[in-house]
Amino acid sequence: MNTSPELPQGFSTSPYIGGEWASGDGEPFDVLNPATGEVLATVSGAGPRDLQSALAAASDALPGWSSTAPRVRGEVLRRAFELMHERAEELATLMTLEMGKTLADARAEVGYAAEFFRWFAEEAPRIGGELRTAPSGANRILTLRKPVGVCLLVTPWNFPAAMATRKIGPALAAGCTVVLKPAEDTPLTALYLAALLAEAGAPAGVVNVLPTAQPGPLVAAGLADERVRKLSFTGSTAVGRLLLAQAAPRVLRSSMELGGNAPFIVLEDADIDAAVEGAMIAKLRNGGQACTAANRFLVREEVAEEFTAKLTDRMAALRLGPGIDPATGLGPMVNRRAVERITKLVDAAVADGAKLRLGGTSPDGPGYFYPATVLTDADPASTLATEEVFGPVAAIYPASSDEQILAQANATEYGLTGYLYTRDLARGLRISEQLEVGMIGLNRGLVSDPAAPFGGVRQSGLGREGGFEGIEEYLETSYIATTW
Ligand code: NAD
Repeated sequence: MNTSPELPQGFSTSPYIGGEWASGDGEPFDVLNPATGEVLATVSGAGPRDLQSALAAASDALPGWSSTAPRVRGEVLRRAFELMHERAEELATLMTLEMGKTLADARAEVGYAAEFFRWFAEEAPRIGGELRTAPSGANRILTLRKPVGVCLLVTPWNFPAAMATRKIGPALAAGCTVVLKPAEDTPLTALYLAALLAEAGAPAGVVNVLPTAQPGPLVAAGLADERVRKLSFTGSTAVGRLLLAQAAPRVLRSSMELGGNAPFIVLEDADIDAAVEGAMIAKLRNGGQACTAANRFLVREEVAEEFTAKLTDRMAALRLGPGIDPATGLGPMVNRRAVERITKLVDAAVADGAKLRLGGTSPDGPGYFYPATVLTDADPASTLATEEVFGPVAAIYPASSDEQILAQANATEYGLTGYLYTRDLARGLRISEQLEVGMIGLNRGLVSDPAAPFGGVRQSGLGREGGFEGIEEYLETSYIATTW
């Protein structure tokens, strides 16, 4: 099978600035196909001069774009949604090649990512304002919503299309212009989307993309530049903390979508087959490389063995291989470092007494593969339980009471997602309310939905993306006090 089909036409592997492909004054870097370890493309990296050009282009385009009729802004996004569907196969293939996910996951991501353009196309004409009478009756209070301005967007590699559209969609709907810095493992999808948005009618300078393999200096310089008014970041909590500190001197509006450590709770009255079905999605979607991925299976001991046996059977049936092969159920991890990190977490847990029910050894190359793995008897205080595994590893922790489950579920600095299976809805709602997370899948293994507010509490982030809340992140409120 040909695991390296040609890349699609219509975009260039270089910075996209002011509606043109720039030559790039930074270091060139290679994008690898994680299924083979081979070079897929060499990208001209963006350097300091490109950053200056992109910020100039974005701030020059701002007055025109923010005063463009909301309906027209929405129509550009709507057209981008349609183009993504017309090119779905091409875009899905590109994502599979540069990131490794299975074609099925990549196709699902194209649909999910495009939906942010459709949703925010519909939100653009609904940006509100208010007229109130002051409680004293002395004056009126007129509230206006304005675009924040030029936004710096920083995205991760795990959902290269959706993490970009989830920011670009609301930013453009609100009337902001953007400079996007995609992850170094997956810049091609972002560059493809820049070309697609231009075709959809986004004027030059409204969307700029700066690929680089040295994100630190470029992002720091962007955050220090007075033209930037907002930072929206999706990625690890460690980098999020660093960027929040860099955003502090200029008191930048900041949105943070950070890491997670999701508990997946199965109570003894749950429909176990449904829970296993949900676990396959919550654990294995994207090869386990999702911030929402189930990280700790907290299962009532009455059903722990049944759940473990059924989940192990399902995971054992997944075929490991290149994502581009339609028979593949589990693709490669994004890069070599990812395989090394997962190996370290699993090996440490096993050395501490955890038992392997499935997998646990990465195969020889080529490519960066880690097999579906199931562990029992791991220490709930091990790094396997406290860190994001970000891979196809399910560790199951039996518990004897709901109180124990709740205490364990909340014993983490993260608070992004939780999953809970029970046939008793009232019990499920009661426990859900006490889980310290931003999102809960109650008898569901998937929470992501462009129409819902996505985001975390505690050290999983600040702000929400999607839903009615998503556009708020890109709007400022100002008010006029007046008397008539
Ligand atoms: P990462 O934090 O390493 O990188 C994210 C982005 O930050 C990339 O674009 C990277 O180039 C950039 N970056 C890295 N170091 C930087 C620095 N010093 N200065 C400026 N920018 C820098 O994360 P990742 O490995 O790409 O993604 C995985 C992480 O993202 C996981 O923790 C996952 O949970 C999280 N994530 C969260 C969400 C969410 O919505 N909450 C969604 C997807 C992924």
